[in-house]
Amino acid sequence: MSGALPTSIDPVWLADQQTHLSGTIPLKRMTRLLADCRSGDGEVRIDLQFRSDPNGERRSVQGKIEASIETTCERCLESMTLPLLAEIDMLIVTAEQASVMDDHEDVLVVKGPVSLGELAENELILAMPMIPMHPEDKCPASALLRDQGIDEKDRQDGGEKQSPFAKLAELKRSDR
Ligand SMILES: [Zn+2]
Repeated sequence: MSGALPTSIDPVWLADQQTHLSGTIPLKRMTRLLADCRSGDGEVRIDLQFRSDPNGERRSVQGKIEASIETTCERCLESMTLPLLAEIDMLIVTAEQASVMDDHEDVLVVKGPVSLGELAENELILAMPMIPMHPEDKCPASALLRDQGIDEKDRQDGGEKQSPFAKLAELKRSDR
């Protein structure tokens, strides 16, 4: 199955059919994820392989969900493109199976039809870094800190007392 993805899936059935789902969902549908984004342009790429063993007792899904979002760098407050990758490796269990299972981290408990968009969105939100920032060598604020002679060592020495962000804020104020 490739291209157009179903909006609603039955993971148990997909596993029993050994289905491979691959395709894209418009990013703009993911309103919770987009709350922190500057733009809703783009797509979420989904590539999932559903599996079950021959007697259907153990079902799982593996694969990945990827997107590239436009968000704000917390260091320089400029726009940044943030690639998100959620690697999926989950057991698929029915509510009945879940009731007799020990706690397990990556389990998809299926009680009815599952929204593929919501599933993908949840996984991408989990893949979001707590504080999105450009890589150090790509961030304009890092270059500014370096130009002002605030090198990595100073920042580590003073890191506990004063964050580089505070220093940057001072520099920005003194620019005016
Ligand atoms: Zn930055």
